[in-house]
Amino acid sequence: MTTARLPRRLTAAEPGWTARADVIVVGSGIAGLTAALRARHLGRTVLLVTKATVDAGSTRWAQGGIAAALSEEDSPEEHLHDTLVAGVGLCDDDAVRVLVTEGPDAVRELIDIGARFDVDDSGAIALTREGGHLRDRIAHAGGDATGAEISRALVAAVQLDLGIEIIENALALDLLVDDAGAAQGVTLHVMGSGQRDGIGAALAPAVILATGGFGQVFGQTTNPYVSTGDGVALSLRAGADIADLEFVQFHPTVMWLGPLAQGQQPLVSEAVRGEGAILLDSSGKPLMRGLHPLEDLAPRDVVAKAIMRRMREEGTPHVWLDGRMLGADTWLQRFPTILENCRTRGIDPVTDLIPVAPAQHYVSGGVRTDLWGRASIRGLYACGEVACTGVHGANRLASNSLLEGLVFARRIVTALDDDLVEREPEESDGPDGLLTHAIRRPMQQVMDVEAGVLRSADSLASAAASLAHLGASGGSRPSTEDWETTNLHQISTVLVHHAAIREETRGSHWREDFPERDDARWRVHLVTRLSEDGTLVTREEPVRGAQE
Ligand SMILES: Cc1cc2nc3c(=O)[nH]c(=O)nc-3n(C[C@H](O)[C@H](O)[C@H](O)COP(=O)(O)OP(=O)(O)OC[C@H]3O[C@@H](n4cnc5c(N)ncnc54)[C@H](O)[C@@H]3O)c2cc1C
Repeated sequence: MTTARLPRRLTAAEPGWTARADVIVVGSGIAGLTAALRARHLGRTVLLVTKATVDAGSTRWAQGGIAAALSEEDSPEEHLHDTLVAGVGLCDDDAVRVLVTEGPDAVRELIDIGARFDVDDSGAIALTREGGHLRDRIAHAGGDATGAEISRALVAAVQLDLGIEIIENALALDLLVDDAGAAQGVTLHVMGSGQRDGIGAALAPAVILATGGFGQVFGQTTNPYVSTGDGVALSLRAGADIADLEFVQFHPTVMWLGPLAQGQQPLVSEAVRGEGAILLDSSGKPLMRGLHPLEDLAPRDVVAKAIMRRMREEGTPHVWLDGRMLGADTWLQRFPTILENCRTRGIDPVTDLIPVAPAQHYVSGGVRTDLWGRASIRGLYACGEVACTGVHGANRLASNSLLEGLVFARRIVTALDDDLVEREPEESDGPDGLLTHAIRRPMQQVMDVEAGVLRSADSLASAAASLAHLGASGGSRPSTEDWETTNLHQISTVLVHHAAIREETRGSHWREDFPERDDARWRVHLVTRLSEDGTLVTREEPVRGAQE
């Protein structure tokens, strides 16, 4: 298989300015904002850099809620069980244990910070259930606007803290690493922030990456435009371990907006099917009937795969979601955001069918960390969707991702306080490898068709060759879009590389030529590091902790 050599650096430009703090946090979703607040509890100065406005990111789009064993009928052990089942043998047991035992306190702390969750008649947090959970343990806010409320509360708290300097429109480019191989900051490109404009360096002995996922690798995704995997790509270039990129979750019911729609697409939460909505094929037949005992509430991967197959058989670009039986009141009270999303696009789900198709939604892999969020480079930490802590294994359990960001951001700061040592910054060198943003759309088409929901050795070999070809297309004048596209290209290259190696079907990774799960051979994480000469070096790592 052809695999491109990847560059070790995004820009060779000299920084025009320097900023310093005890801790740099890159990204302002649930993970970055929590890490910044926590670092302040320990009296550290924090520089929070974020590439758009402070409230941009996947967090504010989260609909369903956040999972935690908050009720007396529930327990962390049961949450652990459900998470391990969803992860199909690839979760790191010890990481999941941390998630589920520290989760309830982390959610309570979020409430203390000011997040207002929906409550039941007794005033207790209202808990609901989602696919894969055997207990009611999903806390939600504003019906289906949980992420917006969490983001609002955290942003307000961060903005009130004078020890946190926030730089918006600041795109982190590369990790700065000293001669001893430790992180010492990041280079940034800042647009329109007074003295801090253009290329600069933010220096600190601790860098926390909280840059979110990489949905924009694919043509259609539920992720916002900022989800270009920059944190994974800059860690890869710096030589950090990157794991499990082949496990990309595709959400089965994303509103289909026409053949030319690209980028972020509106999600129709599976809670709508939970209330009774069903999927129909183009001839109006119930699509999931006979395919799984749970029919429309089968696991996400099963439903997405069934939809893709039916679309291929029928040559149609979407199927239908019928939620007319829910009635106007349920739509209005339970799903106000989704209702509005539909109506602004001329679809009234009370009377109309909703066109839906699978689209990229979440990535389980990322920067490999230990249980304290430490990456394989000293001084580098990662939390939230950018990280691979091992809690999701081969498939994420619904509503565990907000929780992961919250729990591991808290842990990082505890670890970092012990780890912190001052180091003087040094220069790093090497050529850059900037690609032009003009390759983004052709690259997404390659990923959609050849490395998306259904994969095979042939499609992946073809994808690798196309990516190598696109990677040789040369540079252009640096811009945010070029830097992001270069990051997307590097992530796509590792994703395809992993997907080709893993000759089995497990969780969200589906090989048409290897349709079975193979525990004897493949119950391992794939971990990749970029060598000095720009080639990918991949090893297998055993799953951590005891498994059921
Ligand atoms: C539509 C939708 C619905 C979802 N629903 C749920 C749900 O109900 N429950 C659940 O648990 N999960 C849900 N998820 C997933 C969940 O929202 C995310 O996994 C989670 O919010 C990720 O948080 P984060 O802090 O890691 O990243 P994000 O919230 O994505 O934040 C990343 C931040 O990093 C910044 N950034 C990125 N690159 C750079 C760079 N180079 N330089 C500087 N800044 C950078 C971004 O601007 C942003 O501020 C949903 C996701 C989507 C898209």
